[in-house]
Amino acid sequence: MTPGTMHARASARANIALAKYWGKADLEHNVPAVPSISLTLDQLVTETEVCFVEKLESDIVVLDGRPTTAPEAQRAIAMLDRVRRTAGLRWKATVASSNHFPTSAGLASSASGFAALAAAATRAAGLELDSEALSVLARRSSASAARSIFGGFVELPGGQPGQRSLAARQIAPERHWDVRLIIALTATGPKSVSSTDAMERSRKTSPYYQAWVEHAPRWAVAIKRAVCDRDLAALGSAMEQSTFAFHSCAMTAEPTILYWNQATVAALRTVSGLRERGVSAWSTMDAGPHVKVLCQAADAPRVQQALDRTPGVLETRVARPGTGIEVLS
Ligand code: ADP
Repeated sequence: MTPGTMHARASARANIALAKYWGKADLEHNVPAVPSISLTLDQLVTETEVCFVEKLESDIVVLDGRPTTAPEAQRAIAMLDRVRRTAGLRWKATVASSNHFPTSAGLASSASGFAALAAAATRAAGLELDSEALSVLARRSSASAARSIFGGFVELPGGQPGQRSLAARQIAPERHWDVRLIIALTATGPKSVSSTDAMERSRKTSPYYQAWVEHAPRWAVAIKRAVCDRDLAALGSAMEQSTFAFHSCAMTAEPTILYWNQATVAALRTVSGLRERGVSAWSTMDAGPHVKVLCQAADAPRVQQALDRTPGVLETRVARPGTGIEVLS
C-alpha cells in the first residue's frame, strides 16, 4: 500500500424483501418500524473501492463514474464519518462505486450500495468488524443494506425508537432453496419519490399506516415459516399481501404516491394468469414500478417468457439466491 493511503475494495448484492420494510420507528437512528425478510440476489451487484488519503482535504464520492448529487454524497460521507469515529481516523477518503444495474430505480441499489460501502470503508480504516456490527453500521444508512451484509434468506426485526444495536441475521443460506426471482423492468430512469421520503409521507399522512404496522409482523412470521418449510405458495401469498399493503399506504398518502404504470399492472396480471394455469409464480414490488416474480427454478423459463411478452415490459432479468458481502482486496 502507498504510504499515506489506506485502501480496500468490497462487493455486495441487492436483496428483495419478501416481507416488506416500510416505515421507520426512529428517523435519526434509522430503525425500521416493522420486521422484514429478504432474499439476497446474485445478479444485482455493487462494487465499491474506498481509499483514505492522509493529504486529501475533503471526501470525494463517485457513483457509476459520475460525481454524486449533494444528498448522495451526504449519505455516503455520513457513513465514512461513523467509520472514522470508530477507527480514530481523520483522513478523508475517495469512494468509487459502481452498481451493475440501475441506481435509484426501485432495484435496491441503496441496499447493495451501503452494504458494500460499510465493508470497504471499515476494512480500509483497519477495522475488523463481525457481520452483526457491519449490519448495524449499514442499517444506519439504509435499513435494507443491513440485510445485504448476509447471503440467502435474511431477517431484520422491527425495532423501537433509540434501538442503536439492531442488526439483521441470516435465516437460511443461499443453498437452502433454489428459487428464482424474475425482475420485469417496466420503466427507465429514477423513481418519482425516493423510498425514504415516501415512507415518511406514508407514516405522517396515510390513514392505513397504523394498520400496516399492526399487520406486517404477521406476514413476516408466515413468510419466515414458509422459507424454512420451502413452501412457495404460503410464501407467495403472504408476500403479495405484504407488497400490496405497503403500496396501499403510499397510494393513500397525502399527496399520493403511485409508483405503478400500465406495464406494472399488465405484469401483475401476467403473474396471476400464470397461477390460474397452474404455475406457482408470485409477485412483489418495491418502491418503484418494476414487478419481481418469485418461482421455482424449473418454472423460471416459462415465467420469464410470459413477462417478456407482456406489453410495456422493457427487459427481464433472472436472479438466483446470492451471497453476502465480499471483501475483495
Ligand atoms: P433504490 O431503489 O435504488 O434503492 P433509493 O432511492 O432507495 O433507490 O436509494 C438510492 C440512493 O442510494 C442513491 O440516491 C444513493 O444515495 C444511494 N446509493 C445507491 N447506490 C449507491 C452506491 N453504490 N454507493 C453509495 N450510495 C449508493
